[in-house]
Amino acid sequence: MSNDTILNISKFNLKKSAERVGLSKPIFDKISFPKEKIELRLSPILSDGNIANIEAYVVRHSDILGPSKGGIRMMPNVTMDDVAGLAMEMTWKTSLIGVPFGGGKSGIRFNSQSVNDKDKEIIVRAFARSAARHFGPELYVPAPDMGTNEKDMGHIRDCISYSQGISITKGCFVTGKPIILGGIPGRRQATGRGVVYTTLAACEKLGLDIKQQRFVLQGFGNVSSEAAVEIANRGAKVIAVSDINTALFNKNGLDIPALVKYAKANGTIKGFKSADEISGSEIFGLDCDCLIPAAAGSQITADNAAGIKAKIIAEGANAPTTPDADDILHEKGVFIIPDILCNSGGVFVSYLEYVQETQHEQMTEAQVNQRLFERITNCFNDVYSYAKDRKLTMRQAAMDIAVNRVVEGIYARGLLP
Ligand code: NAD
Repeated sequence: MSNDTILNISKFNLKKSAERVGLSKPIFDKISFPKEKIELRLSPILSDGNIANIEAYVVRHSDILGPSKGGIRMMPNVTMDDVAGLAMEMTWKTSLIGVPFGGGKSGIRFNSQSVNDKDKEIIVRAFARSAARHFGPELYVPAPDMGTNEKDMGHIRDCISYSQGISITKGCFVTGKPIILGGIPGRRQATGRGVVYTTLAACEKLGLDIKQQRFVLQGFGNVSSEAAVEIANRGAKVIAVSDINTALFNKNGLDIPALVKYAKANGTIKGFKSADEISGSEIFGLDCDCLIPAAAGSQITADNAAGIKAKIIAEGANAPTTPDADDILHEKGVFIIPDILCNSGGVFVSYLEYVQETQHEQMTEAQVNQRLFERITNCFNDVYSYAKDRKLTMRQAAMDIAVNRVVEGIYARGLLP
């Protein structure tokens, strides 16, 4: 079996966890399959007058612990299987970080970089119109993921308000919105910050000073650029980053504020001065201390795992490591902070956005950060102790805690309709 797709990685991790925690076959089957899978066909007319035919997907993997939660991925190669795998990951992530949500995910099979902002808005609105009946504060609450951002979430919220004739403040239909529309300060930074907070916790356990660590990051989008800013603010060096077009290396450390400004202005890091251009695949073999994959899935494989020199891998991306690579890295003694823990800062702050909107509350960025830091650090420590007591890896421990909680939820609800 090829184990390198996001869905296969998610299924593999669940199967292993089910064996360890001793799930019965019916319960395993119940949580292996999505509750709902919807395939949509969008046909918006773009600004040149042509119709674009685009496939889109919405998957609600589970609502056992609350409404399904998970981002919208807009990528030219996203598949229904990817979305199903990512939705399942969200079930474990929300359970592990302790927010009252289940798992969901959406996909729009389109290259957002191939169109201007106007046409992207047309496509996002077409998706929102078609998928709106599957969204709702008590049903499924989407958020940004690869290829989508807070501006897109604003358009989705507007589209729902317009079609349903409701105010912009009636219910939390989407998180990661612009602050002016009820978004929460610090949501855009939350996933990247959470990645660094968990890395900080790992450094403390391993007796390392984060300031002395050299970081390599794959991707320079929302998660990676915000993580880079947080790393630089803590006085550590980011020696390499990549995006879909190129990779940059500077052994003395990249100028992160300048690079963020450059990437914002140019839509890519390609062409940034004061760094050597290397190939995207080279970043995995660089001499560094911490590696943060924060782009696509299945990037760390049996082919490149042996060459990784980092002591810590912080999984900013979802499912970046294949099971074969996981074994190789474990043998090498690399400390892996698994995705469902490492990148859970985004969904935790989405939960704060949901609370803020539901309660008509207002939170400051300092309050949001404080709550994020405390929750994700406590969660890291719980996973670390669980792993240590039972001689498990961090991934195994995180999965077992998350799966056990979902199963506890199933029995607490009862199995009758
Ligand atoms: P994004 O679209 O903002 O950025 C993605 C970045 O990855 C871009 O720089 C892109 O050029 C780069 N990229 C894409 N494919 C690549 C490849 N093959 N090699 C190198 N670079 C590549 O996306 P994002 O929101 O930052 O998400 C990144 C990852 O983090 C995804 O796996 C996503 O599921 C995960 N994640 C995101 C959030 C969130 O809040 N945005 C939360 C949890 C997890």
